Amino acid sequence: MKNSHQDNSKTQKVHPLQGNPFLLNYKSLSVLCRRAISLILCCFACGWLAKDSSCDETTETANDQNIELAVLGTAQDAGYPQADCLKPCCQRAWADPAIRRWVSCVAVVDHKTNERFIFDCTPDFPIQWQWLEMNLPPRAKTKGRIDGIFLTHAHIGHYTGLMHLGREAMGTKDVPVYAMPRMKQFLTKNGPWSQLVSLKNIKLHELNADVTVRINERLSVTPILVPHRDEFSETVAFIIRGPNKTVLFLPDIDKWARWDRSIEKIIAQVDVAFLDGTFLSNRELPGRDMSLIPHPFIQESINQFSGLDETERKKVRFIHLNHTNPAILENSAAERQIQNAGMHVARQGEKIGL
Ligand SMILES: [Zn+2]
Ligand SMILES: [Zn+2]
Ligand SMILES: [Zn+2]
Repeated sequence: MKNSHQDNSKTQKVHPLQGNPFLLNYKSLSVLCRRAISLILCCFACGWLAKDSSCDETTETANDQNIELAVLGTAQDAGYPQADCLKPCCQRAWADPAIRRWVSCVAVVDHKTNERFIFDCTPDFPIQWQWLEMNLPPRAKTKGRIDGIFLTHAHIGHYTGLMHLGREAMGTKDVPVYAMPRMKQFLTKNGPWSQLVSLKNIKLHELNADVTVRINERLSVTPILVPHRDEFSETVAFIIRGPNKTVLFLPDIDKWARWDRSIEKIIAQVDVAFLDGTFLSNRELPGRDMSLIPHPFIQESINQFSGLDETERKKVRFIHLNHTNPAILENSAAERQIQNAGMHVARQGEKIGL
């Protein structure tokens, strides 16, 4: 682990995501400039005060038809670095903000409809939403609008960001939150989440296992149950289907062998599979009984998937990495080991066209 950290110190690049998220990057600036020019032309054509929606349509380009999935975070529930960890795994991340990672989350942005959906609402929601605003900017009229939040389960990294929708913060109105029956019950019956429901900051939509929800003309989502420590809710993974690509988002599962489904068959049905990569190996938490917090170790997954074709293995991107997992550092020896096995670690900020 130590070596991987040292390797990393020389080759680590600062990801734009890790800089000051409130600074506009070049792409955002060029998009804003193009929009400003379009707006001026539009105003000449339609009159300064015209509210005609046809003005907006003149700004559309081929790219405005795209749907993109963006990775907003790759860390386990507690993020990286983790509270009170002063061990070597987190020491570097306390010193260097560029290598910190937000809690695992993906967003889907439909540039045609300007809709934005997020999968899990993490403790890092404020900065993740801001990143989305800066890097995949919507048109002005939908700024700040959240079109749907899909929740996998009731562990802290997956839903507690909802608190920012309440009256102390965004004070949203009827944001659709999609949750399984027990998860829905949990939010309805327990404060402070129940207040989001009673004040109509969020509107809960019940999901059912294996029942596909069509979220717009081109996008659909299917929840599938996975075995996990379900103290407060069920746990699901999501299959997200766009017009061209299908993605699996599965941040938490106990062990592949405890599932009544074949992960290999599901990988065969998707183009990209974000899979639970919490721990690299069983030696990661000395002095702690790892059977109480079961996850498929990445090394187990590598062994299990070693018989798959290269094209299948290439779809795998490990996400939800614990602070102790050396693969959380880009270009580490651990990441190279995963790449040598034909798989990948999810990168915060990576985008996939759907
Ligand atoms: Zn988790
Ligand atoms: Zn640590
Ligand atoms: Zn969990």
